[in-house]
Amino acid sequence: MSLKTDVLIIGGGPGGYVAAIKLGQLGKKTIVVDRDKLGGECLNYGCIPSKALINAAKSVYKPKKAEPLGLSVKDLAIDWTRTQTWKNTLVGAFVRNIGTLVKANQGETIYGSAKLTGKNSAEVTKTDGSKETIEFDRCIVATGSESMSIPGFTIDGKDVIGSKEALDITDPPKDLVVIGAGVIGLEIGTVFAELGTKVTVVEFTDAILPVIEKDMTVPVSRVLARLGVTLLLSSKAKSWSKKSGRLEVTVETPEGEKKIPCDKVLLAVGRAPRTKDLGLEKAGVETDKRGHILVDTELLSSCPTIYAIGDCVGQPYLAHKASREGILAAQSICGLPLEDRGAVPWAVFTDPEISWVGETETEAKARGAQVLVGKFPFSASGRAQAVRETEGFCKVVADAKTRVILGAGFVGPNASDLVGEACLAVSLKATLDQVARTIHPHPTLNEAFMEACEAALGHPIHLLPQGHLARA
Ligand code: FAD
Repeated sequence: MSLKTDVLIIGGGPGGYVAAIKLGQLGKKTIVVDRDKLGGECLNYGCIPSKALINAAKSVYKPKKAEPLGLSVKDLAIDWTRTQTWKNTLVGAFVRNIGTLVKANQGETIYGSAKLTGKNSAEVTKTDGSKETIEFDRCIVATGSESMSIPGFTIDGKDVIGSKEALDITDPPKDLVVIGAGVIGLEIGTVFAELGTKVTVVEFTDAILPVIEKDMTVPVSRVLARLGVTLLLSSKAKSWSKKSGRLEVTVETPEGEKKIPCDKVLLAVGRAPRTKDLGLEKAGVETDKRGHILVDTELLSSCPTIYAIGDCVGQPYLAHKASREGILAAQSICGLPLEDRGAVPWAVFTDPEISWVGETETEAKARGAQVLVGKFPFSASGRAQAVRETEGFCKVVADAKTRVILGAGFVGPNASDLVGEACLAVSLKATLDQVARTIHPHPTLNEAFMEACEAALGHPIHLLPQGHLARA
């Protein structure tokens, strides 16, 4: 006997479980199949564990730098095994809560690996090895993405590790080589550098965080240098070997070949969609060359009964993008009109953090737009000075004629939280003038957004007028 459901959801990450909750709210019965744990990569091995450990590492590192406050710290130490226990407890609680939410919204969870067998059917191999056939009216594929490898390096979970293993380490390595200066490599590399690990980052391109505008990454480079992180840019990790318990990574750099001794290698060279062995061909679901499922604006694939959302349909690989797509797919299944998808903000939890929403200055100029750009440095913010977090700035880009804010972001303290106000401004098509005349509480970091809008309009309050030094 097969199980029957309105909607089968393959993958219970932030895309899949959010879709299940929304479908339940709209009156549909769902079955969520996950071969691992609800919450997916984000909750179990990504967003939440990494942010918990980033915070833990900072809480040891920051006091050591607080002498000017009159704080003297002796023998401050952290027991990383206990930190891991704490992190696992908080993740476990969230996983259970998600199970409760899915169940409370008419969702059943089955643990196992699902494979499509046709346009309206799938087979699940459960974790106990037994098989179950599921018939559905609609299916949402939300299988996420997985770490990629490069020639010479394959994740073995012991010597060469991925982000998942790195976030489970109980004994921080003395020396760590991180391959890839993207978001994941730098977030995790910074954690270990703050714990005292000697970190070397090898990056193939000539910049850290290659997809981010250069001016936003400068404060991060400065902090990495202060943490003693060695950056090998325009360099290629070629191979590694193991001798008497220690590893050695061979790197081709612009200055010639280097051998870097270390205890672990973290491979963080990017992620690829997890869409192999899903039986997509049985249902006529098409993918692009990299394996992303091709979908239309309603997240519907080339098969009229099958939707796809989240990392498995393409960049940006972000949890909130997956969740938004989960809601849009659920609404489309229920026949609701298509909503505006909205701009997808992003945040990088380096030190300092970086965030952005909407169009960047480069993107706007590339399409020929005339723009007004305003920047306000945190060094001019009373609050940033008071909390001793003065690296970075807020940047705003607006249309020169209408003054509508096209994009905005932050590099600096709490940038990931501060961008929320910019998200609202971009989503509501607010103008520079509207934000500039909105009273912001003082002293707060949020004032930087208001001041950056003032700066774009040419009359910042807490910055010297342009040309002032030249006139003096
Ligand atoms: P996933 O979360 O990957 O979930 C997919 C689920 O599908 C998994 O649970 C998997 O077990 C299941 N599955 C796969 N195949 C099958 C199958 N055949 N049958 C049954 N189940 C299957 N994003 C942010 O927005 N903010 C962050 O701070 C952030 N930090 C990150 C840090 C790290 C270290 C990593 C690795 C990622 C981070 N991300 C972050 C990215 C984020 O985790 C992903 O974008 C997000 O999890 C994608 O959600 P998803 O629902 O598409 O897929």
